Amino acid sequence: MLLVEILAVVLLADLVSGVVHWWEDSYAKLDGGPLKQVAIDNLRHHARPREFLAKGYWASSWDLWLLGALAVAASAALGLFSWHVVLFAVLVANANQVHKWTHRTREENGRVIGTLQRLHLLQTARHHSRHHQGSRDTHYCVLTNFLNPLLEEVQLWRRLERAVSRLTGATRRDEPAELAKLGLLPAPAGATRPSFAIRVPVVMPRLMPLRATASAA
Ligand SMILES: [Zn+2]
Ligand SMILES: [Zn+2]
Repeated sequence: MLLVEILAVVLLADLVSGVVHWWEDSYAKLDGGPLKQVAIDNLRHHARPREFLAKGYWASSWDLWLLGALAVAASAALGLFSWHVVLFAVLVANANQVHKWTHRTREENGRVIGTLQRLHLLQTARHHSRHHQGSRDTHYCVLTNFLNPLLEEVQLWRRLERAVSRLTGATRRDEPAELAKLGLLPAPAGATRPSFAIRVPVVMPRLMPLRATASAA
């Protein structure tokens, strides 16, 4: 029962990370008033996926900690405080850090994070790279590999966009046009994590002699 409760909290936090990310990717524009900086950070991440790794932990996560603290305070005020709320707040507060780990190389992440990713207890780089491919309108959740396939299957994001359009008239932003205002182009596929790009030449020389040996035999 405890495991089921933990899993439910993890998936709820993953869903919240996806909703916030979806909203940024869909509606955060450079003429967005006080939220302009959100649009700039979001667009720069799509153009230069590893650039945000240069930011320190608190610079990347202070706003999410604030969101988590508000959730804890609201639950206490409503008499709904429990360990579930604390776990939820901690997971949401660290969502961008988990996201950062999917953009770092294995060497940068070290053994512990690498193992957690291999066990799929954290989202993997390969999974998150699906978000950065094409038009960047899928795989918004950043904590686990489990929720995104389900949400894509039920087309949650397209349904939400249709609902937003009906209710407010707002449509998805024109990302290439917004990027152009910053003088940026969308990142090519494969730029999310350099290890994907460099693994081929590293592995190939090892495979080539094996192949040559096999065909010689
Ligand atoms: Zn995105
Ligand atoms: Zn990313």
